[in-house]
Amino acid sequence: MRSDDSCIFCKIVQSEIPASIVLQNEATVAFLDINPIATGHLLVIPVEHCSTVTDISAEAMARLAGELPRLSQVVLEATGAAALNLICNSGKEAGQEVPHLHFHLIPRYVDDQRILRANRMASDEESRKRMCQKMIDVLVREESD
Ligand code: 5GP
Ligand code: ZN
Repeated sequence: MRSDDSCIFCKIVQSEIPASIVLQNEATVAFLDINPIATGHLLVIPVEHCSTVTDISAEAMARLAGELPRLSQVVLEATGAAALNLICNSGKEAGQEVPHLHFHLIPRYVDDQRILRANRMASDEESRKRMCQKMIDVLVREESD
């Protein structure tokens, strides 16, 4: 099982540093964020060290993601929140600070202003078609490897 001695989340998995752990099994650990965006902000991580969504096997991701529906229910019921954001910052440029893959489950309330809305841009049909084809080409290449 992959682990990284310098990784703070691996240290939590191995009980080397304390955390408020809600769920721990052979594949997944869920614990409260130490600097929450809202009370009840939960982090869900794979036991095995991997850095990003492209650094985890499909099987391991399926196990990890498989816990998200019931953990989301737990967050909603325990906090009384109306909704939640499920966020994964994958890579430094996307805002990932801890390089051990994790999902944020962030309770949300009406008009709570806790997370800013992302800026959107317009797109034209031609550029969407080109990008769509580019992605299909990558997918086909990956499948034939
Ligand atoms: P990221 O920016 O990598 O997506 O999010 C990392 C999250 O981990 C942050 O929300 C941060 O508050 C949380 N965090 C960082 N160090 C610790 C820690 O030692 N314990 C816990 N429980 N959360 C941590
Ligand atoms: Zn780690």
